[in-house]
Amino acid sequence: NKQVILKDYVSGFPKESDMNIVDSTITLKLPQGSNELLLKNLYLSCDPYMRILMTKDTTAGLGAYTPGSPLTGYGVSKVMESGHQDYKKGDLVWGMTKWEEYSLVPATGMRKIEHTDVPLSHYTGILALIGLTAYAGFFEVGTPKKGDNVFVSAAAGAVGQLVGQFAKLTGCYVVGSAGTKEKVDLLKNKFGYDEAFNYKEEHDLNAALKRYFQEGIDIYFENVGGKTLDAVLPNMRVHGRILVCGMISQYNLIQPEGITNLAHIIYKRIQMQGFIAPDYYHFYTKFLEFILPLIREGKIVYVEDIAKGLENGPKALVGLFSGHNVGKQVVFVAHE
Ligand code: NDP
Repeated sequence: NKQVILKDYVSGFPKESDMNIVDSTITLKLPQGSNELLLKNLYLSCDPYMRILMTKDTTAGLGAYTPGSPLTGYGVSKVMESGHQDYKKGDLVWGMTKWEEYSLVPATGMRKIEHTDVPLSHYTGILALIGLTAYAGFFEVGTPKKGDNVFVSAAAGAVGQLVGQFAKLTGCYVVGSAGTKEKVDLLKNKFGYDEAFNYKEEHDLNAALKRYFQEGIDIYFENVGGKTLDAVLPNMRVHGRILVCGMISQYNLIQPEGITNLAHIIYKRIQMQGFIAPDYYHFYTKFLEFILPLIREGKIVYVEDIAKGLENGPKALVGLFSGHNVGKQVVFVAHE
């Protein structure tokens, strides 16, 4: 059973060498009387929060990883043996699994995959937590209206590409930022963003935002934090809303960057609200009813970046922090 093990807690930027690929010789079997599931893992999701779990004594309210053990994360798997009445051998599931070929996991962290006319890999992202994040964050927390001016950072990533498309479906004006020309082109030509810019080429982010938002920003979908957030604050409109999904630019810093423009929260009466997708699991069925027809009709497009083989997982995961991924980063582990 090949596994990806975290060697030790990480400080600063994560590296491939922070993880080891090992071959465990223990044959996994469902213990007698267990109500767990024995899974064959097919796809694994690379998510920025996984870096937070590599920090010793993380204060994020999530349990840190245990050095010497395989990483855990969301994935798509096939049930090999089931001790739980709701699942049977051969079922396809998505949920919390481990970075290894075969895993023994509690059934409570899993959901059955009912719709298989779409790519299975989608259940690491658009049809799983990523889709729910974009949906709940934009529609439920953001309550957007037609004509709103929307700005999205990390706009060509897993969450960002969906938020931009949801904003266009709502009749908003939407601008995205990303770190390469290729991503900027995707934003404009594939995801339907009205405008897009490469934040790495802008010496003055404030001026860049003024260029695209002469009347200010109604909704900022925050994925990166730091300098981008600082530049956004003075460009918000009165009663604007900042939907705080993530702050990837801060996850590797030992000392987070200070925000100098925070007083604009008062001047502009800005609402800033953090949210996490697991709080919105009760929307999942409603969300699937919304998103599946859009995918089938080609009204939502979704780009995935699939690394082949568990052994390439560490490289794919650390690549999130240098913008190596184009779209949702997935690791393909095995065929059904
Ligand atoms: P992405 O697919 O967007 O991948 C991460 C991207 O972030 C990279 O490709 C890179 O793109 C960009 N990035 C990396 N470092 C920096 C930096 N220092 N400054 C600016 N941009 C950077 O990841 P996700 O869509 O999965 O996640 C996006 C955000 O959403 C993250 O902050 C994540 O933590 C958060 N999230 C929150 C959830 C919730 O429940 N609240 C659930 C899922 C994700 P580029 O080339 O453009 O720099």
